[in-house]
Amino acid sequence: MGSAAPKRSHDHSKCIAEALAAATEVCRERSARFTSLRRQVLELIWTSHEPVGAYDILEMMNDTADSRVAPMTVYRAIEFLMENGLVHRIASRNAYVGCSHPGASHEGQFLICRHCGCVEEIMEKAISKALSTGAKRAGFDAVSSLIEIEGRCRDCRESAGE
Ligand SMILES: [Zn+2]
Ligand SMILES: [Zn+2]
Ligand SMILES: [Zn+2]
Repeated sequence: MGSAAPKRSHDHSKCIAEALAAATEVCRERSARFTSLRRQVLELIWTSHEPVGAYDILEMMNDTADSRVAPMTVYRAIEFLMENGLVHRIASRNAYVGCSHPGASHEGQFLICRHCGCVEEIMEKAISKALSTGAKRAGFDAVSSLIEIEGRCRDCRESAGE
């Protein structure tokens, strides 16, 4: 799945550290158990800004662990992370990315770069608002309104000299 090259001019270890600290805080506030397994899965999802599939997570875990991890264990951990708003599922990739604003209740928009595969989460309140207005007008009770937008990211555009 593309190159794992981190985005230019950014220290990704900082992203990981921040994500783990925020997750610890969110779980503490919600009295949810942030077990070492859940933490490990979150860390693996945060390997880069590219979405990671459940199967890839399972493989990475089985590469490092002494005993094999069951697929169900990984799925349950992902489920937990999603329920607590720590990761999002990118439907078009059937894969997961870490949430960059965990804790805040939001419906994000995801900018997916077709070139490098990275995903950036933005939160344009006007979009969420327009969607909920439109859904209401149609008498529709919207449960999820995550939006996936495909294109080319800033880094890729800049390195192409645009
Ligand atoms: Zn990063
Ligand atoms: Zn998010
Ligand atoms: Zn890109």
